[in-house]
Amino acid sequence: MNELSLYVHIPFCARKCRYCDFVSFADKNECFEPYTKALVSEIGRKSLWAKGYTIKSIFIGGGTPVILKRKQLADIFFAISKDYDMAEDCEITVEANPGILDRQMARQLKSMGVNRLSLGVQAWQKDLLELLGRIHTVYDVKSAVEMAHDADIENINADLIFAIPGQKMKDWEESILKTIDLGVKHISAYSLIFEEGTPFMEALKNGELKPVSDKDDRRMYYLADEILSDAGFIKYEISNYGKPGFCSRHNINYWKCGDYLGFGLAAHSYFEGRRFSNTKNLADYVKKDGNPNLIEDYSEVLSKKVKMSEFMFMGLRMMEGIKIQEFQERFGEDFDEIYGNTAKDFVEKKLLERTKDGFRLTRRGIDVSNVVFEGFLL
Ligand code: SF4
Repeated sequence: MNELSLYVHIPFCARKCRYCDFVSFADKNECFEPYTKALVSEIGRKSLWAKGYTIKSIFIGGGTPVILKRKQLADIFFAISKDYDMAEDCEITVEANPGILDRQMARQLKSMGVNRLSLGVQAWQKDLLELLGRIHTVYDVKSAVEMAHDADIENINADLIFAIPGQKMKDWEESILKTIDLGVKHISAYSLIFEEGTPFMEALKNGELKPVSDKDDRRMYYLADEILSDAGFIKYEISNYGKPGFCSRHNINYWKCGDYLGFGLAAHSYFEGRRFSNTKNLADYVKKDGNPNLIEDYSEVLSKKVKMSEFMFMGLRMMEGIKIQEFQERFGEDFDEIYGNTAKDFVEKKLLERTKDGFRLTRRGIDVSNVVFEGFLL
């Protein structure tokens, strides 16, 4: 039986964070209902494509999925459970903004089968949260975790951001330690990126914000490594850490170039060798009732070369690295012929190291991972 992951995009937020370039809108509450209807329609229509597949993970992200009314979320879950063959141990994650989650919603999520919650914690300092434009407080974070635990959702991820302008090393240390104290099972720690078109980028350009130096960025990165490893977290990807048994199945599927179907505005899919994405136009998506034949705005059938390149640079994001045998089985090509020289060159430069069955990034390789990834482009 083939396996598949599903991603559902909810493009609504209470307020737009200043660093965010995701496809999400504030003040569009009047669109919740028509959007949910179009989404349910898209989920239903695409279920025909997924016949013969078992769903191993579902991620409801955004945006802020828990901003929807409970009935709307229930409709979305029903649409999936009705038409898709879900594995018994399917990992079902919902992203939640700690400023929005309430007790009833936490209980409802649990009753709908959600077994993993992903919280946008980001920082523990009031001034940094305000700078980021987050709506939540540290008290909201504590109570969101408590509500999830009360609802019997034990598998919780916390997203954290480092290299925020003005963030001190001790702030970052405090954020990591306090997040660990919450008892979460998984932490994603990402360096802040100034994205084009965001207020943060504007503030950077006009000198209002000063970026953290590369040196401090790396110091923060390795501080997280050290503290999280001491606390029993396993680093399994460049920016992701999980307690044993709690690494995200959904994320691993992306890094292993597995199939996934995306639903909703701007959602991407990679399915049976084709990559495609939906329109980013909310009115258009709703008007076309989520009809997959009408809402696609990008599609590419991946060549073998592209697939091999992606196998390398996505796989190398994982700490276990890539396995030569897996490459050869998947592509029917000799690894040494395609990548032998490139891999040897990176090993000599101490950016890659041999494992018993393949290659993985060294610590130095992680720092310049983009250079390594580019080296594997065919
Ligand atoms: S809550 Fe998340 S998706 Fe919404 S604006 Fe903030 S960062 Fe973006």
